[in-house]
Formats: sequence, C-alpha cells, structure tokens
Amino acid sequence: MRLGVLGGGQLARMMALAARPLGIDVTVIDPNVEAPARHVASHIVASLDDREALHQLAEQCDVVTIELEAVPPESLEHLQRLRPVYPSGEFVAMTQDRLSEKLGLRALNIATAPINDEVELPAIVKTRRGGYDGRGQRRVSTDAERDRALDELPDPIVEAIVDFRRELSIVAAADRHGRIACWPVATNTHRNGVLFTSQPHGDDPCQQQAEAIATALIRRYGVIGVCCVELFDTEHGLVANEVAPRVHNSGHWTIEGSTTSQFEQHVRAVCGLPLGLSDLRQPTAMINVIGQEPSLEHLLSIDGVHVHRYEKAPRAERKVGHVTITAATERQLVDRIRRTKAVIDS
Ligand code: ATP
Ligand code: MG
Repeated sequence: MRLGVLGGGQLARMMALAARPLGIDVTVIDPNVEAPARHVASHIVASLDDREALHQLAEQCDVVTIELEAVPPESLEHLQRLRPVYPSGEFVAMTQDRLSEKLGLRALNIATAPINDEVELPAIVKTRRGGYDGRGQRRVSTDAERDRALDELPDPIVEAIVDFRRELSIVAAADRHGRIACWPVATNTHRNGVLFTSQPHGDDPCQQQAEAIATALIRRYGVIGVCCVELFDTEHGLVANEVAPRVHNSGHWTIEGSTTSQFEQHVRAVCGLPLGLSDLRQPTAMINVIGQEPSLEHLLSIDGVHVHRYEKAPRAERKVGHVTITAATERQLVDRIRRTKAVIDS
C-alpha cells in the first residue's frame, strides 16, 4: 500500500511516521526541498498544481490525501480521475473560504459568529482565503478602521467578536463505511494568534455538542479521514470558528495521549482499514514550539516530555516543533507543564 500526500509539512511528516509501522509507504509533493516530510517519505519536489508531478504521484500511490487545505481545487479534481482522493474536493472547497465555511455550517444549524451586515463594532476583518496562524486578520473598533481594513485585506469578511469563555476543538475521523470516532475535546490557548497549548479533557461538558457538530459535518460532506472543528465555548453553547479538512495541530496530543494517534487514524481511514480507539489514556497536554528551538537537553530532563522537532529553519512566529507532556495525575501534569513552559520561554 502506498499513500500519496499533497503537501510535505510537519503534518505529512507525522502521517508518514504513523504509516511506517503499518508497512505503508508515503510519497509527498511539496515545492520546498527542505519540506519537513523529506526524511521520512519519498519527496516529489514540485508545486501542487504541477500536472506531471500529480501523474507521478498517482502512478506511485494507491490512495491520495492532503495535509493542508490550501490545495488547488483543480489538482484534487484531476487526481480524483486517477485515484481515490480523500477528503473530497467539495469538503476542501467549503473550508478554503471563510464565507462558504460559515454558510455551510449554518446550513447544518451549527452556530457561527455573525458576519458582514449582521455585525456591530468592534469586529474582526479577515481575508476569506489563505489566512492561517492569525495572519490576514485585523481587529477594528471604528467605522474608519473597518473601511480601511476592508480596502486593504484581499477579499475580506467581517466577523463579530465572539464573547467566549474558552476555545476548544474536536478532532474526529470517519472510515469508508461511515463509522465515526471522535477524540475528547481539547481546550486551546493562543500566543499572538498562533496555537500555543492544547489540553484534552476526558469528561468535558461540551463533548456531546462538539461530537454532534463534527458528526453533522462528516455526514453532510461524506468525509473519509480526519477533520477538526475549532469552537468557541459561549454562554449560549458552542459556536464554530473554523473547519479543517485534515489532521490538526490541536490533535497532536493523540500521538502519546491516545491509543490511536490522529495520524495513524487518518492513514487507516483513507487506506480502507478499520479505525482504532480514540480515547484519552492519561493526563496529557501539548505545547507548540514557535520561533526558536529550546534546549533539547533541558526539555528531555523533564519526565513525561516527548519532543517532536519538525526540522524546519527557525523563523519568528513559525511552528518548528511541539512537545507532548504526559503524567500519571492532573497535579503532576500541571507541574510538568510549568517546567516545560519555563524551558520553552528561556
Ligand atoms: P489558525 O490557523 O490558528 O486556525 P486562523 O488564521 O485560521 O488561525 P482563526 O482561527 O479564524 O484564524 O483565528 C485565530 C484566533 O483569533 C482564534 O483562535 C481566536 O482566538 C481569535 N478569533 C478569531 N475569530 C474570532 C472571533 N470571531 N471572535 C473572537 N475571537 C476570534
Ligand atoms: Mg483557527
């Protein structure tokens, strides 16, 4: 079995690492010669709309998937004629545009932030396409600020600021027979608009509502593989922020924290294999390493710390790795998180 992946970033890298024990080979397409997946997968160095490269991928692989939502829709359509491709172009297209994403969610009676004419100031102006890690968005408090942002940001959408108690996300998987497995929801915190920590909870009061949201999306779009919904927990229930048609940073804790990691689950699902258990085995948390790499020696001197380096050139605001922390008790976890943050910030 050979799996093709559009994109060779850290998500493809971790997919390939999960596929290896199953005896599944991975080939990625990525224009970057230093793509993080290069050490663990076959690497076709080409852009994602290179027809020749797409043909080469299809020839080498039995199934094709993606590791990023910004794939050219024509490439997915083209590949679909050659090999099974999961997820579908329809699902990916819906998530690529913040407007179609919100309309798609609303059509399923899933609450979203008010948008455009529904919005009062202050608000957030975002580009509809291509934004990530908080890039391509601006908070505005006056009419003048809003008008300027609408002028300056390409293809903008205005979103009301949601008054949330916390941010959380649900990562879910579906196999080819429509069976669904959801992991426990995780609470997420951000730094400068970039995900910083994710911590799963075994008995979160929002679990049932979050699973209902993920299930509705999976059923509507015939999702096969892993997807994620970013959510705001508000006084009036959950409000959906974004949908990712792929494995997600807030699910990295599953590598050590769950019986089946999101990466293995995704590989299983798209390759037509049965899903594994999506439980929380022990108190677990994930911390992103952003910008500079901390001392490996200092990190590894903390018990329960698992280091994942992406082998990327360091750059401000760039995710260069993550750390998962496991512990026997919640108290021990809190102490290990504190010590790990001190190393990351030093
Ligand atoms: P990422 O790639 O990390 O998912 P992104 O660039 O796609 O980020 P969003 O997820 O839309 O952008 O926004 C990033 C963060 O900004 C959110 O996690 C949240 O903290 C804040 N935010 C975004 N939209 C809203 C909103 N409507 N109300 C309140 N906070 C918001
Ligand atoms: Mg987001």
